[in-house]
Amino acid sequence: MNIGFIGIGNMGSLMCKNLLKSECRPRVTVYDKVLCNVEAICQLGAVKAETPREVAQNSEFIITMLPESSNMKEVVLGKNGVVEAIKPGHIIVDMGTGSPTVIREIGQILAEKKAFILDAPVSGGVGKAATGELSIMASGDKATFDKCHEIFTILGKEIFHISTEVGTGHTVKIINNLVQGVNLAAICEAMVLAVKAGLDPAMFLDILNKSSGESYASRIKVPGFIFKREFSTGFKAKLQHKDMDLATTLAKELKVPVAMGNLAKEYYMAAMAAGKGDMDASVIVTLLEDITGVTVKPTP
Ligand code: NAD
Repeated sequence: MNIGFIGIGNMGSLMCKNLLKSECRPRVTVYDKVLCNVEAICQLGAVKAETPREVAQNSEFIITMLPESSNMKEVVLGKNGVVEAIKPGHIIVDMGTGSPTVIREIGQILAEKKAFILDAPVSGGVGKAATGELSIMASGDKATFDKCHEIFTILGKEIFHISTEVGTGHTVKIINNLVQGVNLAAICEAMVLAVKAGLDPAMFLDILNKSSGESYASRIKVPGFIFKREFSTGFKAKLQHKDMDLATTLAKELKVPVAMGNLAKEYYMAAMAAGKGDMDASVIVTLLEDITGVTVKPTP
């Protein structure tokens, strides 16, 4: 099996590693605009491509794991892009999170080449990417989904084919991330308040996680990032903002009020303004810590 992989960042590098060590031993051709990301994965057996076009020349399946839809457009439709070399019957699987509208536009252009596209965004963060247990929410042609199923089982655990209409996966994912971003903002506020009120943060979190305040953010983000004071990997604040912006834009188009989402989104903009956009989204807690003069850290 020949798989191409474009976008070897926090998530892509972990997903590539799982492909490389999978039983079917695929040939994995990789491209990223940051050379050191490519070189690190090539040391584990991937093959370096100089352009997205070269990835397409060598791969019947092309996975993209890029930050934004604009990057996706550039990689697929730009100079030396995938579309210049993609062959009939070959498949692009966009596993990043992006705009439902843009993925449909790209799908229409690929259809002229008799190639296929699925949007198959993932959830579960770097933890589940590392263990190959992502949730995958795919949409697009069912026969195309079936052809990709073996790859999905290497990368994920919960695998959904949610619709034959391209873009539905992205719609589900951006709404999911609207909720996640609100929850993360709420738990950051709560943790700072708890510490300011004199509570031991570990004790408070333990009770919250066994009570009705529990969420993915409280279970994973607080112990995994905030308590460790480690924000260098994970899900970047600027990507959290991007997803919430896609969701709130969709809500505006559909005339649906999403007050909480719009408010919480501003925390991630504030992180970007503070030069912390490339850090894990939970870094917003540090903005509140700066204002209140406390640090959310368990007592040793
Ligand atoms: P990242 O920023 O760590 O990695 C993105 C990679 O894409 C980088 O290596 C970058 O150099 C590369 N890239 C950007 N533009 C490019 C271009 N034009 N050509 C080639 N390479 C390019 O991001 P990530 O955390 O790995 O996330 C990737 C996607 O997955 C995003 O859409 C994100 O929203 C989504 N996602 C992330 C997580 C997470 O926890 N990190 C979870 C689920 C989904």
